[in-house]
Amino acid sequence: MHEFTAEVEELAKAVMEYSLARLKSDPPLDGPRTEADLYSELGNTITAQGLGGKETLKVFTDTLALACISTDHPRNLAFIPSAPSEYSNLFDLVVGASSLYGGSWQEGAGAVFAENQAIKWLIDIAGLPKSAGGVFVQGGTMGNLSALVVARDQARKTHPDTQRWVVACSAESHSSITSAAHVMDVDVLKIETNDELRLDGAHVAKAIDELHATTNKRVFAIVGTAGSTNLGIVDDLATLAKTAKERNIWFHVDGAYGLAGLCAPSVRHLYNGVEDADSFIVDPHKWLFAPYDACALVYRNPALAKETHTQHASYLETLHDDSWSPSDYAIHLTRRVRGLPFWFSLAAHGTDAYSEAVEEGIRLAKESAKRIVAHPNLELVREPELSIVAFTRKGWTPAQYQQWSDALLEKQIGFIPPSKHAGESILRFAFVNPWTSMDDVQMILDTL
Ligand SMILES: *Cc1c(COP(=O)(O)O)cnc(C)c1O
Repeated sequence: MHEFTAEVEELAKAVMEYSLARLKSDPPLDGPRTEADLYSELGNTITAQGLGGKETLKVFTDTLALACISTDHPRNLAFIPSAPSEYSNLFDLVVGASSLYGGSWQEGAGAVFAENQAIKWLIDIAGLPKSAGGVFVQGGTMGNLSALVVARDQARKTHPDTQRWVVACSAESHSSITSAAHVMDVDVLKIETNDELRLDGAHVAKAIDELHATTNKRVFAIVGTAGSTNLGIVDDLATLAKTAKERNIWFHVDGAYGLAGLCAPSVRHLYNGVEDADSFIVDPHKWLFAPYDACALVYRNPALAKETHTQHASYLETLHDDSWSPSDYAIHLTRRVRGLPFWFSLAAHGTDAYSEAVEEGIRLAKESAKRIVAHPNLELVREPELSIVAFTRKGWTPAQYQQWSDALLEKQIGFIPPSKHAGESILRFAFVNPWTSMDDVQMILDTL
């Protein structure tokens, strides 16, 4: 029988103690150090003899961990931070301990069954048919790429003579769409948003029809963004879906951040039209309280994804029966069952708790917007639509924004790097953490 040695036993205790203490406490924000600085303290950690478990853990807990910004800190409102639930983090320890292989049904049936139930909830709240299906991939970048590759394969069937493929999206769409286009060697047609900063069907129809009439390029996918990363704006998905359908073009919805709002009754109407998507993504590691890293990638017709993504090799053919193997639905083979912490938390808490927690982010954004409007030095960019609120500080130069942000982190008050909108510096709060309070927000506003 396999047993721990006394030394491993001791390390196990230390690891569990550290993990639980980290989960129970409000962690400090911490912050980055230069490589030279870290090296001067630690030197080479990889040695012929090894440092031993205890010493190596100390290197992490006393130095490395402190040189990483806590993304789950209640006043980390940067980019899209993270707020894994206690249950999802605890269960992540179980996943890590279990050597689960999530690539195939044969090896991971129980875990994949659970992941698929969590995906099924997302399919249901999006209103896609029961025949839809999907898989958890590393992040939204990989999710968008995997979906777009399927979309192009479908377009190749109907327009085999096309010389150059194009993905159509908004000027506000996420950088990962451009990154996917680069990997796929296709062009990006960036289309202006309307007065509400939304991409809509009319603008897209005009741009695509013009492109098709004047060049021999062809659009294989329209990407709608459900919650832009900068301002949290949801494109007009219903008219985008209609424009796509009329032209027999794949409709993909990038909801890495914002599709979490599907479970929040107060904003559900913003997503009308998502039910017509051919594919969509949402990152549970953003606003669905899961640890890094997990993106749910969903296809209306998963058989099409399987055609594109199944890997063939003599040693893999044994896996190709009718069972559901996650590796068949995206660009990956070996995979961690990265959807399992999300599944555990969702199953344990129930979906009502998710609706409540997402609504809390929306409430925080609304309430913050009110305080920003009332603040003598601040100006709201736009009423928040989801849980992101953007504003400017009157009279500040870009350098002043950066200095304020650096000082805020330096003093360990919060982490709010400046962004830009319409060529101007802005500040933005992205609320995903239901444990952020209005006192936290006020503490930050008082420094402005
Ligand atoms: C964050 C984000 C992505 C990229 O997701 P990653 O998980 O960081 O790869 C894509 N699209 C949108 C709208 C996002 O907010």
